[in-house]
Amino acid sequence: MTTIWMKSSRKELLDVMEAAVCDATASVTFIAARYRTPFAVFVSTVVSLRTRDEVTFAVSQRVLSEYPDIKALAGADAGDLAELLKPAAFYHNKSVSLIDAARQILGRHAGEIPTQIEDLLALPGVGRKTAQLVRAEGHGLPAICVDIHVHRISNRLGLCDTRKPEETEKILAACFQEQDWIRVNRVMVPFGQKVCAPVSPWCSRCPLQAECPRIGVARNR
Ligand code: SF4
Repeated sequence: MTTIWMKSSRKELLDVMEAAVCDATASVTFIAARYRTPFAVFVSTVVSLRTRDEVTFAVSQRVLSEYPDIKALAGADAGDLAELLKPAAFYHNKSVSLIDAARQILGRHAGEIPTQIEDLLALPGVGRKTAQLVRAEGHGLPAICVDIHVHRISNRLGLCDTRKPEETEKILAACFQEQDWIRVNRVMVPFGQKVCAPVSPWCSRCPLQAECPRIGVARNR
């Protein structure tokens, strides 16, 4: 790991990134703020997998308006739900997973979205990224959700030198104070969409350009 970020405040690092994208919010964060229920966050995190933010937002709202709670979702017809989920990626699989998950949540967790990572991971269609986002945005628990943006930016900045998101999550948990864990995803997702883009980041517009080692960046704008 490089040392420049060891010396500076990690909270400050998030503050700088947040200021650069203050007009942008990731779709799941937006849904969380709008609906204020773990159920809505759970649905939107499943919808969001491999799906663009604007599609996630529109599709999540459609699904939540037709199936406003876990009971309604558990009783959904897979074909009807798949139609509502279009054009989200893997909409057929997501339809089946959401209905199965809702039934399991009703049967095993009294209809409440679980808070424990192991319980969430046991649900169909739920991986670590989804589980952590539900814990953070749905329940307000300290959790770091490492998606492709968080993983890429953390490595470019030299906060970590990792190949797998699980490794990144561990290092970031040690890097940031627990009170800032939820912010890591909230800030880095829009920053990764608007500034530190996947193929060719906007380093010329980036407030971190003077300090960032740009690890693994082959070209930039
Ligand atoms: S300087 Fe470039 S690589 Fe570094 S964080 Fe900014 S946009 Fe990303």
